[in-house]
Amino acid sequence: MTTRATGSNNFIKDIVSEDLSIGKNSNRVHTRFPPEPNGYLHIGHAKSICLNFGLAAEYGGLCNLRFDDTNPSKEDVEYVDSIQADVRWLGFDWDNRLFYASDYFEQLYNYAGQLIKAGKAYVCDLSPEQIRNYRGTLTGPGKDSPYRNRSVDENIDLFRRMRAGEFPDGSRVLRAKIDMTSPNLNMRDPVLYRIMRATHHRTGDDWCIYPMYDYAHPLSDAIEEVTHSICTCEFEDHRPLYDWTLRELNIKEPPQQIEFARLNLSHTVMSKRKLRQLVEQGYVSGWDDPRMPTISGLRRRGYTPEAIRDFCERIGVAKANSFVDIAMLEHCIREDLNFRAPRVMVVLRPLKVIIDNYPEDRVEMLDAGYNSENPQLGSRQVPFSRELYIEQEDFLEDPPKKFFRLSPGREVRLKNAYIIKCERVVKDEKTGEVTEVHCTYDPATKSGMPTDRKVKGTLHWVSAAHAVNAEVRLYSQLFLKENPDEDEDFKINMNRDSLEVLASLVEPSLAGMAPGDRYQFLRMGYFCVDPASSKDKLVFNRIVSLKDTWAKIQKAGDQTGK
Ligand code: ATP
Ligand code: MG
Repeated sequence: MTTRATGSNNFIKDIVSEDLSIGKNSNRVHTRFPPEPNGYLHIGHAKSICLNFGLAAEYGGLCNLRFDDTNPSKEDVEYVDSIQADVRWLGFDWDNRLFYASDYFEQLYNYAGQLIKAGKAYVCDLSPEQIRNYRGTLTGPGKDSPYRNRSVDENIDLFRRMRAGEFPDGSRVLRAKIDMTSPNLNMRDPVLYRIMRATHHRTGDDWCIYPMYDYAHPLSDAIEEVTHSICTCEFEDHRPLYDWTLRELNIKEPPQQIEFARLNLSHTVMSKRKLRQLVEQGYVSGWDDPRMPTISGLRRRGYTPEAIRDFCERIGVAKANSFVDIAMLEHCIREDLNFRAPRVMVVLRPLKVIIDNYPEDRVEMLDAGYNSENPQLGSRQVPFSRELYIEQEDFLEDPPKKFFRLSPGREVRLKNAYIIKCERVVKDEKTGEVTEVHCTYDPATKSGMPTDRKVKGTLHWVSAAHAVNAEVRLYSQLFLKENPDEDEDFKINMNRDSLEVLASLVEPSLAGMAPGDRYQFLRMGYFCVDPASSKDKLVFNRIVSLKDTWAKIQKAGDQTGK
Protein backbone atom coordinates (compact mmCIF):
# COMPACT_ATOMS: atom_id res chain seq x y z
CA MET A 1 0.00 0.00 0.00
CA THR A 2 1.30 3.45 -0.88
CA THR A 3 1.29 5.98 1.89
CA ARG A 4 1.64 9.05 -0.26
CA ALA A 5 -0.96 10.58 -2.49
CA THR A 6 -0.08 11.21 -6.11
CA GLY A 7 -2.63 13.85 -7.18
CA SER A 8 -2.96 17.35 -5.76
CA ASN A 9 -3.20 17.45 -1.99
CA ASN A 10 -6.09 18.27 0.29
CA PHE A 11 -6.78 18.08 4.00
CA ILE A 12 -8.48 14.69 3.71
CA LYS A 13 -5.42 13.18 2.06
CA ASP A 14 -3.34 14.67 4.87
CA ILE A 15 -5.52 12.83 7.39
CA VAL A 16 -5.33 9.55 5.47
CA SER A 17 -1.55 9.82 5.02
CA GLU A 18 -1.14 10.56 8.72
CA ASP A 19 -3.33 7.57 9.65
CA LEU A 20 -1.27 5.29 7.43
CA SER A 21 1.99 6.60 8.83
CA ILE A 22 0.96 5.55 12.34
CA GLY A 23 -0.46 2.22 11.17
CA LYS A 24 -4.06 3.08 12.05
CA ASN A 25 -6.85 0.75 10.80
CA SER A 26 -4.28 -2.02 10.16
CA ASN A 27 -2.96 0.16 7.34
CA ARG A 28 -6.15 -0.06 5.35
CA VAL A 29 -7.94 2.70 3.42
CA HIS A 30 -11.58 1.91 2.83
CA THR A 31 -14.16 4.51 1.78
CA ARG A 32 -17.72 4.37 0.49
CA PHE A 33 -20.08 6.42 -1.60
CA PRO A 34 -23.48 6.27 0.15
CA PRO A 35 -26.29 7.72 -1.98
CA GLU A 36 -29.89 7.61 -0.89
CA PRO A 37 -31.87 6.19 -3.83
CA ASN A 38 -34.44 8.99 -3.80
CA GLY A 39 -33.41 10.76 -7.01
CA TYR A 40 -30.80 10.89 -9.74
CA LEU A 41 -27.20 11.80 -9.03
CA HIS A 42 -26.05 15.35 -9.73
CA ILE A 43 -22.71 17.07 -10.26
CA GLY A 44 -22.39 17.56 -6.48
CA HIS A 45 -22.49 13.81 -6.06
CA ALA A 46 -19.78 13.56 -8.72
CA LYS A 47 -17.52 15.52 -6.37
CA SER A 48 -18.18 12.99 -3.62
CA ILE A 49 -17.76 10.03 -5.99
CA CYS A 50 -14.42 11.32 -7.34
CA LEU A 51 -13.25 11.98 -3.81
CA ASN A 52 -14.21 8.61 -2.33
CA PHE A 53 -13.24 6.39 -5.25
CA GLY A 54 -10.24 8.61 -5.98
CA LEU A 55 -8.85 8.29 -2.44
CA ALA A 56 -9.24 4.52 -2.51
CA ALA A 57 -7.46 4.31 -5.86
CA GLU A 58 -4.63 6.60 -4.81
CA TYR A 59 -3.88 4.75 -1.60
CA GLY A 60 -4.42 1.26 -2.96
CA GLY A 61 -7.58 0.88 -0.89
CA LEU A 62 -11.21 0.04 -1.60
CA CYS A 63 -14.38 2.03 -2.10
CA ASN A 64 -17.88 0.57 -1.71
CA LEU A 65 -21.08 1.67 -3.32
CA ARG A 66 -23.71 1.59 -0.64
CA PHE A 67 -27.33 2.51 -1.01
CA ASP A 68 -28.48 4.29 2.06
CA ASP A 69 -32.02 2.95 1.75
CA THR A 70 -33.46 3.47 5.19
CA ASN A 71 -36.41 5.64 4.18
CA PRO A 72 -38.70 3.53 1.95
CA SER A 73 -41.29 6.28 1.56
CA LYS A 74 -39.15 8.17 -0.97
CA GLU A 75 -37.02 5.48 -2.54
CA ASP A 76 -37.33 3.59 -5.77
CA VAL A 77 -35.46 0.98 -7.88
CA GLU A 78 -35.43 3.41 -10.82
CA TYR A 79 -33.02 5.49 -8.76
CA VAL A 80 -30.98 2.46 -7.69
CA ASP A 81 -30.42 1.57 -11.34
CA SER A 82 -29.67 5.08 -12.55
CA ILE A 83 -27.17 5.68 -9.73
CA GLN A 84 -25.18 2.57 -10.64
CA ALA A 85 -25.18 3.51 -14.33
CA ASP A 86 -23.99 7.03 -13.49
CA VAL A 87 -21.15 5.96 -11.18
CA ARG A 88 -19.94 3.47 -13.81
CA TRP A 89 -20.18 6.05 -16.56
CA LEU A 90 -18.06 8.42 -14.49
CA GLY A 91 -15.39 5.74 -14.66
CA PHE A 92 -15.54 4.10 -11.23
CA ASP A 93 -15.98 0.50 -10.22
CA TRP A 94 -17.02 -1.07 -6.93
CA ASP A 95 -16.21 -4.67 -8.03
CA ASN A 96 -18.36 -6.94 -5.88
CA ARG A 97 -18.85 -4.33 -3.17
CA LEU A 98 -22.37 -3.19 -3.86
CA PHE A 99 -24.21 -2.91 -0.56
CA TYR A 100 -27.51 -1.71 0.82
CA ALA A 101 -28.12 -0.41 4.32
CA SER A 102 -31.25 -2.57 4.17
CA ASP A 103 -28.97 -5.64 4.03
CA TYR A 104 -28.12 -4.79 7.64
CA PHE A 105 -31.64 -4.30 9.03
CA GLU A 106 -31.42 -7.45 11.14
CA GLN A 107 -27.94 -6.56 12.44
CA LEU A 108 -29.03 -3.00 13.18
CA TYR A 109 -32.03 -4.33 15.08
CA ASN A 110 -29.75 -6.54 17.16
CA TYR A 111 -27.38 -3.66 17.85
CA ALA A 112 -30.39 -1.66 19.09
CA GLY A 113 -31.16 -4.52 21.46
CA GLN A 114 -27.61 -4.25 22.80
CA LEU A 115 -28.04 -0.54 23.40
CA ILE A 116 -31.29 -1.17 25.27
CA LYS A 117 -29.65 -3.82 27.43
CA ALA A 118 -26.81 -1.43 28.23
CA GLY A 119 -29.37 1.14 29.34
CA LYS A 120 -28.46 3.37 26.39
CA ALA A 121 -31.77 3.36 24.52
CA TYR A 122 -35.45 3.44 25.43
CA VAL A 123 -38.87 3.28 23.85
CA CYS A 124 -40.62 6.64 24.00
CA ASP A 125 -44.38 7.15 23.61
CA LEU A 126 -44.32 10.91 23.09
CA SER A 127 -45.87 12.11 19.84
CA PRO A 128 -43.55 13.65 17.23
CA GLU A 129 -44.80 17.09 18.25
CA GLN A 130 -44.19 16.45 21.94
CA ILE A 131 -40.70 15.18 21.16
CA ARG A 132 -40.03 18.44 19.37
CA ASN A 133 -41.32 20.45 22.31
CA TYR A 134 -39.31 18.47 24.83
CA ARG A 135 -36.14 18.87 22.80
CA GLY A 136 -35.59 22.49 23.83
CA THR A 137 -33.93 25.11 21.69
CA LEU A 138 -30.47 26.18 20.55
CA THR A 139 -30.26 28.42 23.62
CA GLY A 140 -32.30 26.45 26.14
CA PRO A 141 -31.94 22.85 27.39
CA GLY A 142 -34.43 20.10 26.68
CA LYS A 143 -36.55 18.13 29.12
CA ASP A 144 -36.37 14.41 29.86
CA SER A 145 -39.12 12.32 28.36
CA PRO A 146 -41.43 10.80 30.99
CA TYR A 147 -40.62 7.42 29.38
CA ARG A 148 -36.87 7.83 29.73
CA ASN A 149 -36.55 5.65 32.79
CA ARG A 150 -38.44 2.61 31.62
CA SER A 151 -36.82 -0.64 32.72
CA VAL A 152 -34.57 -2.55 30.36
CA ASP A 153 -37.08 -5.42 30.30
CA GLU A 154 -39.99 -3.15 29.41
CA ASN A 155 -37.93 -1.50 26.66
CA ILE A 156 -36.92 -4.86 25.22
CA ASP A 157 -40.51 -6.03 25.23
CA LEU A 158 -41.87 -2.82 23.66
CA PHE A 159 -39.15 -2.67 20.98
CA ARG A 160 -39.85 -6.29 20.05
CA ARG A 161 -43.55 -5.48 19.77
CA MET A 162 -42.79 -2.38 17.69
CA ARG A 163 -41.12 -4.70 15.23
CA ALA A 164 -43.98 -7.19 15.43
CA GLY A 165 -46.36 -4.50 14.23
CA GLU A 166 -48.43 -4.18 17.40
CA PHE A 167 -48.44 -0.37 17.40
CA PRO A 168 -49.65 2.18 14.89
CA ASP A 169 -47.27 4.31 12.80
CA GLY A 170 -45.78 7.21 14.71
CA SER A 171 -47.07 6.04 18.11
CA ARG A 172 -43.69 5.07 19.55
CA VAL A 173 -39.99 5.45 18.76
CA LEU A 174 -36.74 4.04 20.04
CA ARG A 175 -34.45 6.78 21.31
CA ALA A 176 -30.84 6.92 22.38
CA LYS A 177 -30.44 7.86 26.03
CA ILE A 178 -27.73 10.51 25.91
CA ASP A 179 -28.27 13.98 27.36
CA MET A 180 -31.29 16.26 27.07
CA THR A 181 -29.18 19.24 28.16
CA SER A 182 -26.41 18.77 25.61
CA PRO A 183 -25.57 21.97 23.73
CA ASN A 184 -25.71 19.81 20.59
CA LEU A 185 -29.39 19.19 19.75
CA ASN A 186 -28.45 15.98 17.92
CA MET A 187 -27.36 14.51 21.24
CA ARG A 188 -30.67 15.18 23.01
CA ASP A 189 -31.93 11.61 22.98
CA PRO A 190 -32.15 11.33 19.18
CA VAL A 191 -34.64 8.96 17.60
CA LEU A 192 -33.02 5.70 16.42
CA TYR A 193 -36.07 3.84 15.09
CA ARG A 194 -39.54 4.84 13.93
CA ILE A 195 -42.66 2.84 13.11
CA MET A 196 -43.58 3.26 9.45
CA ARG A 197 -45.66 0.90 7.39
CA ALA A 198 -44.13 1.36 3.99
CA THR A 199 -43.16 -1.23 1.41
CA HIS A 200 -39.40 -1.22 0.95
CA HIS A 201 -37.99 -1.75 -2.55
CA ARG A 202 -35.82 -4.58 -1.26
CA THR A 203 -37.23 -5.88 2.00
CA GLY A 204 -40.88 -5.54 0.96
CA ASP A 205 -43.18 -5.62 4.00
CA ASP A 206 -40.74 -7.50 6.25
CA TRP A 207 -40.28 -4.45 8.43
CA CYS A 208 -42.58 -1.85 9.89
CA ILE A 209 -39.81 -0.16 11.87
CA TYR A 210 -36.98 1.60 10.10
CA PRO A 211 -33.67 2.92 11.49
CA MET A 212 -32.82 6.61 11.26
CA TYR A 213 -29.90 7.76 9.09
CA ASP A 214 -27.79 8.89 12.08
CA TYR A 215 -28.01 5.43 13.60
CA ALA A 216 -27.79 3.31 10.45
CA HIS A 217 -24.91 5.19 8.86
CA PRO A 218 -22.09 4.70 11.41
CA LEU A 219 -23.06 1.06 11.84
CA SER A 220 -23.22 0.41 8.10
CA ASP A 221 -19.74 1.94 7.86
CA ALA A 222 -18.56 -0.28 10.70
CA ILE A 223 -20.07 -3.46 9.24
CA GLU A 224 -18.29 -2.76 5.95
CA GLU A 225 -15.04 -1.99 7.80
CA VAL A 226 -14.89 1.47 6.30
CA THR A 227 -11.95 3.47 7.64
CA HIS A 228 -12.75 7.00 6.47
CA SER A 229 -16.41 8.02 6.23
CA ILE A 230 -16.43 11.16 4.16
CA CYS A 231 -19.53 13.33 4.12
CA THR A 232 -20.58 16.94 3.64
CA CYS A 233 -20.33 19.64 6.30
CA GLU A 234 -23.96 19.64 7.36
CA PHE A 235 -23.16 16.41 9.17
CA GLU A 236 -20.45 17.96 11.30
CA ASP A 237 -22.90 18.44 14.19
CA HIS A 238 -23.93 14.82 13.83
CA ARG A 239 -20.39 13.52 14.30
CA PRO A 240 -20.69 13.26 18.12
CA LEU A 241 -23.69 10.96 17.59
CA TYR A 242 -21.78 8.97 14.95
CA ASP A 243 -18.95 8.46 17.43
CA TRP A 244 -21.33 7.80 20.35
CA THR A 245 -23.06 4.99 18.47
CA LEU A 246 -19.80 3.25 17.60
CA ARG A 247 -18.38 3.73 21.10
CA GLU A 248 -21.44 2.45 22.95
CA LEU A 249 -21.46 -0.65 20.77
CA ASN A 250 -17.73 -1.27 21.31
CA ILE A 251 -16.85 -1.21 17.63
CA LYS A 252 -13.16 -2.08 17.13
CA GLU A 253 -11.24 0.20 14.74
CA PRO A 254 -14.21 2.54 14.39
CA PRO A 255 -14.50 4.47 11.12
CA GLN A 256 -13.73 8.17 11.25
CA GLN A 257 -16.20 10.70 9.88
CA ILE A 258 -14.58 13.55 7.94
CA GLU A 259 -16.62 16.44 6.55
CA PHE A 260 -15.92 18.51 3.44
CA ALA A 261 -17.78 21.40 1.80
CA ARG A 262 -20.50 20.47 -0.65
CA LEU A 263 -20.33 21.74 -4.17
CA ASN A 264 -22.62 24.61 -5.07
CA LEU A 265 -22.79 25.59 -8.71
CA SER A 266 -23.97 28.95 -10.03
CA HIS A 267 -27.22 29.25 -11.97
CA THR A 268 -28.57 25.92 -10.82
CA VAL A 269 -30.08 24.11 -7.85
CA MET A 270 -28.61 20.92 -6.57
CA SER A 271 -30.88 19.34 -4.00
CA LYS A 272 -32.63 16.22 -5.25
CA ARG A 273 -35.86 17.45 -3.72
CA LYS A 274 -35.75 20.57 -5.89
CA LEU A 275 -34.59 18.73 -8.99
CA ARG A 276 -37.49 16.34 -8.50
CA GLN A 277 -39.88 19.30 -8.47
CA LEU A 278 -38.52 20.46 -11.82
CA VAL A 279 -39.12 17.00 -13.25
CA GLU A 280 -42.51 16.32 -11.69
CA GLN A 281 -43.91 19.76 -12.44
CA GLY A 282 -42.81 19.62 -16.06
CA TYR A 283 -40.25 22.43 -16.05
CA VAL A 284 -37.84 20.05 -17.79
CA SER A 285 -38.36 16.95 -19.90
CA GLY A 286 -36.98 14.55 -17.28
CA TRP A 287 -34.05 13.85 -14.95
CA ASP A 288 -31.85 13.60 -18.05
CA ASP A 289 -32.96 16.87 -19.60
CA PRO A 290 -29.72 18.35 -20.98
CA ARG A 291 -30.25 21.48 -18.88
CA MET A 292 -30.27 19.53 -15.61
CA PRO A 293 -27.15 19.43 -13.39
CA THR A 294 -27.71 15.69 -13.05
CA ILE A 295 -25.06 13.26 -14.27
CA SER A 296 -27.60 11.84 -16.73
CA GLY A 297 -28.47 15.35 -17.94
CA LEU A 298 -24.81 16.27 -18.40
CA ARG A 299 -24.21 12.98 -20.23
CA ARG A 300 -27.10 13.60 -22.60
CA ARG A 301 -25.92 17.15 -23.12
CA GLY A 302 -22.61 15.71 -24.27
CA TYR A 303 -20.30 16.13 -21.28
CA THR A 304 -17.56 13.51 -21.04
CA PRO A 305 -16.66 11.65 -17.84
CA GLU A 306 -13.12 12.98 -18.30
CA ALA A 307 -14.32 16.60 -18.24
CA ILE A 308 -16.41 16.01 -15.12
CA ARG A 309 -13.54 14.28 -13.32
CA ASP A 310 -11.22 17.11 -14.33
CA PHE A 311 -13.72 19.61 -12.96
CA CYS A 312 -13.94 17.74 -9.65
CA GLU A 313 -10.15 17.72 -9.40
CA ARG A 314 -9.90 21.45 -10.13
CA ILE A 315 -12.51 22.57 -7.61
CA GLY A 316 -10.55 20.78 -4.91
CA VAL A 317 -11.69 19.69 -1.48
CA ALA A 318 -11.99 22.09 1.41
CA LYS A 319 -13.95 22.73 4.58
CA ALA A 320 -15.31 26.13 3.63
CA ASN A 321 -18.46 26.27 1.56
CA SER A 322 -17.91 27.64 -1.89
CA PHE A 323 -19.85 28.65 -4.95
CA VAL A 324 -18.35 27.49 -8.22
CA ASP A 325 -19.12 29.35 -11.44
CA ILE A 326 -20.73 27.06 -13.99
CA ALA A 327 -18.36 28.64 -16.53
CA MET A 328 -15.61 26.54 -14.97
CA LEU A 329 -17.44 23.32 -15.76
CA GLU A 330 -17.93 24.55 -19.32
CA HIS A 331 -14.23 25.37 -19.53
CA CYS A 332 -13.41 21.75 -18.64
CA ILE A 333 -15.49 20.26 -21.45
CA ARG A 334 -14.02 22.71 -23.98
CA GLU A 335 -10.51 21.73 -22.93
CA ASP A 336 -11.38 18.06 -23.31
CA LEU A 337 -13.09 18.33 -26.70
CA ASN A 338 -10.80 20.92 -28.27
CA PHE A 339 -8.32 18.26 -29.23
CA ARG A 340 -10.44 15.19 -29.70
CA ALA A 341 -13.63 16.39 -31.36
CA PRO A 342 -13.77 16.40 -35.18
CA ARG A 343 -14.58 19.87 -36.50
CA VAL A 344 -17.35 19.97 -39.05
CA MET A 345 -19.52 22.50 -40.83
CA VAL A 346 -23.11 23.05 -39.77
CA VAL A 347 -25.21 26.10 -40.52
CA LEU A 348 -27.49 26.69 -37.57
CA ARG A 349 -29.62 29.46 -39.11
CA PRO A 350 -29.29 29.15 -42.89
CA LEU A 351 -29.09 31.98 -45.43
CA LYS A 352 -28.83 31.08 -49.11
CA VAL A 353 -25.73 32.03 -51.12
CA ILE A 354 -25.58 31.64 -54.90
CA ILE A 355 -22.20 31.69 -56.66
CA ASP A 356 -23.24 33.20 -59.97
CA ASN A 357 -20.04 32.35 -61.85
CA TYR A 358 -19.91 28.71 -60.67
CA PRO A 359 -21.22 26.15 -63.21
CA GLU A 360 -24.71 24.95 -62.36
CA ASP A 361 -24.08 21.25 -62.81
CA ARG A 362 -20.71 21.13 -61.12
CA VAL A 363 -19.91 19.52 -57.75
CA GLU A 364 -16.39 19.56 -56.36
CA MET A 365 -15.32 17.30 -53.52
CA LEU A 366 -12.99 19.33 -51.31
CA ASP A 367 -10.60 17.79 -48.85
CA ALA A 368 -11.26 19.04 -45.33
CA GLY A 369 -9.18 18.07 -42.30
CA TYR A 370 -11.15 17.20 -39.17
CA ASN A 371 -9.04 19.07 -36.64
CA SER A 372 -6.04 21.21 -37.49
CA GLU A 373 -4.65 20.71 -33.96
CA ASN A 374 -5.00 16.95 -34.17
CA PRO A 375 -4.16 15.70 -37.69
CA GLN A 376 -4.60 12.10 -36.52
CA LEU A 377 -8.34 12.60 -36.77
CA GLY A 378 -7.90 12.60 -40.56
CA SER A 379 -10.14 14.30 -43.08
CA ARG A 380 -13.29 13.92 -45.14
CA GLN A 381 -14.56 15.18 -48.48
CA VAL A 382 -16.98 18.09 -48.47
CA PRO A 383 -19.12 18.83 -51.54
CA PHE A 384 -19.01 22.36 -52.95
CA SER A 385 -21.53 23.61 -55.51
CA ARG A 386 -23.17 26.71 -56.90
CA GLU A 387 -25.84 27.00 -54.19
CA LEU A 388 -24.73 27.09 -50.59
CA TYR A 389 -25.94 28.13 -47.19
CA ILE A 390 -24.06 30.31 -44.72
CA GLU A 391 -25.00 31.48 -41.22
CA GLN A 392 -27.52 34.34 -41.20
CA GLU A 393 -25.39 36.24 -38.70
CA ASP A 394 -22.42 36.07 -41.10
CA PHE A 395 -24.08 38.49 -43.51
CA LEU A 396 -24.98 42.13 -42.92
CA GLU A 397 -26.30 44.38 -45.65
CA ASP A 398 -25.20 47.48 -43.86
CA PRO A 399 -22.28 46.45 -41.66
CA PRO A 400 -20.37 48.44 -39.05
CA LYS A 401 -16.71 49.06 -39.80
CA LYS A 402 -15.28 46.14 -37.85
CA PHE A 403 -17.55 43.52 -39.39
CA PHE A 404 -15.22 41.12 -41.19
CA ARG A 405 -17.81 38.79 -42.57
CA LEU A 406 -19.89 39.02 -45.72
CA SER A 407 -21.60 42.21 -46.94
CA PRO A 408 -22.15 43.84 -50.34
CA GLY A 409 -18.85 44.44 -52.17
CA ARG A 410 -16.76 42.58 -49.57
CA GLU A 411 -14.82 39.35 -49.71
CA VAL A 412 -14.53 36.41 -47.35
CA ARG A 413 -13.07 32.95 -47.53
CA LEU A 414 -15.33 29.94 -47.42
CA LYS A 415 -13.62 27.39 -45.17
CA ASN A 416 -11.81 24.67 -47.15
CA ALA A 417 -13.00 26.31 -50.42
CA TYR A 418 -12.67 29.65 -52.21
CA ILE A 419 -12.69 33.36 -51.64
CA ILE A 420 -16.05 34.79 -52.63
CA LYS A 421 -17.26 38.33 -53.12
CA CYS A 422 -20.79 39.55 -52.48
CA GLU A 423 -22.22 41.20 -55.59
CA ARG A 424 -25.89 41.77 -54.76
CA VAL A 425 -28.81 40.56 -52.65
CA VAL A 426 -32.38 39.47 -53.33
CA LYS A 427 -35.02 40.51 -50.81
CA ASP A 428 -38.47 39.39 -49.92
CA GLU A 429 -40.70 42.09 -51.38
CA LYS A 430 -43.06 42.17 -48.43
CA THR A 431 -40.72 41.90 -45.46
CA GLY A 432 -37.56 43.38 -46.91
CA GLU A 433 -35.66 40.41 -45.51
CA VAL A 434 -32.59 39.25 -47.47
CA THR A 435 -33.42 35.83 -48.96
CA GLU A 436 -30.47 35.29 -51.31
CA VAL A 437 -26.94 36.57 -51.38
CA HIS A 438 -25.39 36.51 -54.85
CA CYS A 439 -21.62 36.17 -55.02
CA THR A 440 -18.78 35.41 -57.42
CA TYR A 441 -15.89 33.13 -56.58
CA ASP A 442 -12.26 33.31 -57.65
CA PRO A 443 -11.07 29.87 -58.93
CA ALA A 444 -7.45 30.86 -58.22
CA THR A 445 -8.07 31.01 -54.48
CA LYS A 446 -8.89 27.37 -53.86
CA SER A 447 -7.99 26.36 -50.33
CA GLY A 448 -4.52 24.86 -50.12
CA MET A 449 -3.29 26.65 -53.25
CA PRO A 450 -0.74 29.45 -52.85
CA THR A 451 -2.34 32.89 -53.04
CA ASP A 452 -1.37 36.35 -51.87
CA ARG A 453 -4.98 37.45 -51.48
CA LYS A 454 -5.83 38.32 -47.91
CA VAL A 455 -9.30 38.34 -46.41
CA LYS A 456 -10.19 38.90 -42.77
CA GLY A 457 -13.10 36.51 -42.41
CA THR A 458 -13.51 32.77 -42.93
CA LEU A 459 -17.04 31.41 -42.93
CA HIS A 460 -18.42 27.90 -42.55
CA TRP A 461 -21.02 26.77 -45.08
CA VAL A 462 -22.86 23.77 -46.49
CA SER A 463 -23.81 22.87 -50.05
CA ALA A 464 -27.56 23.32 -50.52
CA ALA A 465 -28.07 20.19 -52.59
CA HIS A 466 -26.04 17.98 -50.25
CA ALA A 467 -26.82 19.32 -46.78
CA VAL A 468 -28.90 17.23 -44.40
CA ASN A 469 -31.66 18.62 -42.20
CA ALA A 470 -31.11 18.45 -38.47
CA GLU A 471 -32.77 19.69 -35.35
CA VAL A 472 -30.31 21.58 -33.21
CA ARG A 473 -31.10 22.41 -29.60
CA LEU A 474 -29.34 25.32 -27.95
CA TYR A 475 -29.42 25.63 -24.18
CA SER A 476 -28.78 28.38 -21.72
CA GLN A 477 -28.86 28.30 -17.92
CA LEU A 478 -32.03 27.03 -16.29
CA PHE A 479 -31.90 29.89 -13.78
CA LEU A 480 -31.29 33.57 -14.37
CA LYS A 481 -29.94 34.24 -10.89
CA GLU A 482 -26.51 33.09 -9.83
CA ASN A 483 -27.98 31.60 -6.69
CA PRO A 484 -31.62 30.66 -7.33
CA ASP A 485 -31.90 29.39 -3.75
CA GLU A 486 -31.74 32.97 -2.48
CA ASP A 487 -35.48 33.24 -2.90
CA GLU A 488 -38.13 31.39 -1.00
CA ASP A 489 -39.41 29.74 -4.16
CA PHE A 490 -36.37 29.02 -6.28
CA LYS A 491 -38.61 28.49 -9.31
CA ILE A 492 -39.36 32.20 -9.72
CA ASN A 493 -35.80 32.52 -11.02
CA MET A 494 -36.28 30.12 -13.89
CA ASN A 495 -35.11 31.21 -17.32
CA ARG A 496 -38.07 30.78 -19.64
CA ASP A 497 -35.80 30.87 -22.68
CA SER A 498 -33.37 28.17 -21.68
CA LEU A 499 -34.13 26.07 -24.76
CA GLU A 500 -34.05 27.17 -28.39
CA VAL A 501 -34.80 24.67 -31.14
CA LEU A 502 -33.41 25.36 -34.62
CA ALA A 503 -33.96 23.82 -38.05
CA SER A 504 -30.36 23.59 -39.23
CA LEU A 505 -28.34 22.13 -42.08
CA VAL A 506 -25.40 19.81 -41.52
CA GLU A 507 -22.72 18.66 -43.93
CA PRO A 508 -23.47 15.22 -45.41
CA SER A 509 -20.62 13.45 -43.58
CA LEU A 510 -22.71 13.77 -40.41
CA ALA A 511 -25.55 11.61 -41.71
CA GLY A 512 -23.82 8.47 -40.40
CA MET A 513 -23.12 9.59 -36.87
CA ALA A 514 -24.31 7.76 -33.76
CA PRO A 515 -26.02 8.99 -30.59
CA GLY A 516 -23.43 10.26 -28.15
CA ASP A 517 -20.94 11.31 -30.85
CA ARG A 518 -19.44 14.72 -30.24
CA TYR A 519 -18.31 17.35 -32.71
CA GLN A 520 -17.15 20.87 -32.89
CA PHE A 521 -19.43 22.73 -35.29
CA LEU A 522 -16.96 25.28 -36.63
CA ARG A 523 -17.44 28.65 -34.94
CA MET A 524 -20.70 27.54 -33.29
CA GLY A 525 -19.63 25.37 -30.39
CA TYR A 526 -19.44 21.75 -29.28
CA PHE A 527 -22.39 19.52 -30.01
CA CYS A 528 -23.50 15.99 -29.18
CA VAL A 529 -25.88 13.67 -30.99
CA ASP A 530 -28.99 13.21 -28.84
CA PRO A 531 -30.13 9.66 -27.97
CA ALA A 532 -33.45 10.46 -29.70
CA SER A 533 -31.60 11.03 -32.97
CA SER A 534 -32.23 8.63 -35.86
CA LYS A 535 -31.36 8.28 -39.53
CA ASP A 536 -34.63 10.00 -40.40
CA LYS A 537 -34.29 12.80 -37.91
CA LEU A 538 -30.93 14.03 -36.72
CA VAL A 539 -30.98 15.76 -33.35
CA PHE A 540 -28.02 17.60 -31.82
CA ASN A 541 -27.59 19.19 -28.40
CA ARG A 542 -25.21 22.06 -27.98
CA ILE A 543 -22.86 21.25 -25.11
CA VAL A 544 -21.24 24.70 -24.99
CA SER A 545 -20.44 27.56 -27.29
CA LEU A 546 -16.80 28.22 -28.14
CA LYS A 547 -16.55 31.42 -26.13
CA ASP A 548 -14.70 30.58 -22.94
CA THR A 549 -16.09 32.92 -20.30
CA TRP A 550 -14.11 31.11 -17.60
CA ALA A 551 -10.80 32.04 -19.20
CA LYS A 552 -12.04 35.65 -19.17
CA ILE A 553 -13.06 35.51 -15.53
CA GLN A 554 -9.63 34.11 -14.69
CA LYS A 555 -7.89 36.87 -16.61
CA ALA A 556 -9.95 39.59 -14.92
CA GLY A 557 -9.11 37.99 -11.58
CA ASP A 558 -5.37 38.05 -12.41
CA GLN A 559 -5.55 41.70 -13.33
CA THR A 560 -7.21 42.70 -10.09
CA GLY A 561 -4.60 40.68 -8.23
CA LYS A 562 -7.07 38.06 -6.98
P1 ATP B 1 -29.37 16.19 -1.90
O1 ATP B 1 -29.49 17.26 -0.86
O2 ATP B 1 -29.02 16.68 -3.24
O3 ATP B 1 -30.54 15.27 -1.91
P2 ATP B 1 -28.00 14.33 -0.30
O4 ATP B 1 -26.79 14.69 0.48
O5 ATP B 1 -29.25 14.16 0.42
O6 ATP B 1 -28.11 15.36 -1.47
P3 ATP B 1 -27.25 11.64 -0.74
O7 ATP B 1 -27.78 10.68 -1.71
O8 ATP B 1 -27.51 11.41 0.69
O9 ATP B 1 -27.75 13.06 -1.18
O10 ATP B 1 -25.69 11.86 -0.99
C1 ATP B 1 -24.74 10.87 -1.20
C2 ATP B 1 -23.38 11.45 -0.93
O11 ATP B 1 -23.12 12.54 -1.81
C3 ATP B 1 -23.29 11.99 0.48
O12 ATP B 1 -22.07 11.58 1.04
C4 ATP B 1 -23.36 13.48 0.30
O13 ATP B 1 -22.66 14.13 1.30
C5 ATP B 1 -22.73 13.67 -1.08
N1 ATP B 1 -23.24 14.90 -1.71
C6 ATP B 1 -24.51 15.23 -1.93
N2 ATP B 1 -24.61 16.47 -2.47
C7 ATP B 1 -23.34 16.93 -2.60
C8 ATP B 1 -22.76 18.14 -3.08
N3 ATP B 1 -23.50 19.13 -3.56
N4 ATP B 1 -21.42 18.25 -3.07
C9 ATP B 1 -20.65 17.25 -2.60
N5 ATP B 1 -21.13 16.09 -2.13
C10 ATP B 1 -22.46 15.92 -2.12
MG1 MG C 1 -30.03 12.87 1.72
